Amino acid sequence: MSRIAYVNGRFVAKTDAVVHIEDRGYQFADAGYEVWALFGGKLSDPEGHFARLERSLGELRIPMPMSRKALTVVLKETVRRNRVSEGLVYLQVSRGVAPRDHAFPAADTPPAIVITVSRVDREASEARARKGVAVVTTPENRWGRCDIKTVGLLPNAMAKQKAREVGAVEAWFVDDLGLVTEGASSNAWIVDRDGALRTRDTNANILRGVTRLSLLDVARQAGLKVEERPFTPQEALDAQEAFITGAGTLVLPVVLMDGKPIGSGKPGPVAARLRALYIEHAKATAV
Ligand code: PLP
Repeated sequence: MSRIAYVNGRFVAKTDAVVHIEDRGYQFADAGYEVWALFGGKLSDPEGHFARLERSLGELRIPMPMSRKALTVVLKETVRRNRVSEGLVYLQVSRGVAPRDHAFPAADTPPAIVITVSRVDREASEARARKGVAVVTTPENRWGRCDIKTVGLLPNAMAKQKAREVGAVEAWFVDDLGLVTEGASSNAWIVDRDGALRTRDTNANILRGVTRLSLLDVARQAGLKVEERPFTPQEALDAQEAFITGAGTLVLPVVLMDGKPIGSGKPGPVAARLRALYIEHAKATAV
């Protein structure tokens, strides 16, 4: 069980953990967040996640609540207190607490910070990866700064629910040009008809997934042809394979899109290999 949360400087039982009703994260979604996968109790891909957190908060003009080094200590201590080895760590930093007013509060308002830990059943995840999952497509309706990891996730939550209601695990947003942008909580990939690995470039309005970035490296080192180029839902259906990436899903094969099979309708060898290679990388980089 993961029962301890870190809230504004204190470790508290989750049942007693509360934030102020005028926290700007609560009232305006005025907060950034980050999620690390945990392997053996260690934070994977630390550099990528810390760099993105700093960038997200920088773009939002929310100060980092503490140094990277201090934050690492607090994150690890929260993990230790929860006795979680395989799981996820969630960190949220809001602009703090202030009387409700859209514009920013006084500059000395301290950011509010919450950390929680959850357990992941790796065996169940591997079983799911061996089977593959379904996705649905949905029109892109998010704001223009999806590169910032903020808690303003209502369109993502609505899209995810749409998927859940038909037994799919992810929704792929499709933009006005008819191109897949990304998933509600993951990046989208295909192995196209020519055998090239394709995922959308980050000039598009998508989150710069840390798993995505590491996997691009891993794939290149494995000698695969990689293209950062968008694809249409039809190209996904015509592809040899498809998969999603994220701290939660790692590399997860997609076998059905809108009820239609992708490739053979079964997980393919490229995704299976990349999943194994990514997990190796994640374990090797974990701190
Ligand atoms: N895209 C979105 C919208 C996400 O919410 C996430 C993760 O939560 C990702 C992509 C994958 O990012 P990462 O690999 O850094 O977990």
